[in-house]
Amino acid sequence: MDPVYDQPMSDCLFCAIVAGDIPAAIVAETRDTVAFRDISPQAPVHVLVVPRAHHQDAAALASADPALAGRFLADVAAVAEAEGVAGSGHRIVFNTGTDGGQTVGHVHAHLLGGRGMSWPPG
Ligand code: 5GP
Ligand code: ZN
Repeated sequence: MDPVYDQPMSDCLFCAIVAGDIPAAIVAETRDTVAFRDISPQAPVHVLVVPRAHHQDAAALASADPALAGRFLADVAAVAEAEGVAGSGHRIVFNTGTDGGQTVGHVHAHLLGGRGMSWPPG
C-alpha cells in the first residue's frame, strides 16, 4: 500500500477544505482552484493552491485535464502577485509521491516566498 496514492478520495483533506468541511485560511478562490495558507509555514509566504477537482499529482492532472492544468498555473501566478512575491521571486513546488515528500494525495502547489531560498532542497 502506497502511503500517498492509496489514500481514499473520501478521506482527502484537501477535498474537505475545498468543500468547506475543514476550515482553512483561504486567500483566493477561482472557479478552478482554492488557495489557503499552509498550517505549518516554511516561509513568510506559504500558500497551498489546489484544484477543486481531485487529481493525485501534477502528472495525473495534466493527463486528465491539460486545460485545467494551465489555468491552475495561472491561478498560482495570480496568488504570487496578490501575496507580493511575484516581482521579488518565489518558489513553486509540487512534492510528488513518496520520495518527493508528498503527504496529501491531492495535487497542490506550494507557493513559497518572502525570503531567499537555498538550493538544493532537502
Ligand atoms: P505535501 O507534504 O503533501 O507536499 O504538503 C502538504 C502540506 O499540507 C504540508 O505543507 C502541511 O503543512 C499542509 N497541511 C497539512 N494539514 C493541513 C491542514 O489541515 N490545513 C492546512 N492549511 N495545511 C495543512
Ligand atoms: Zn482531494
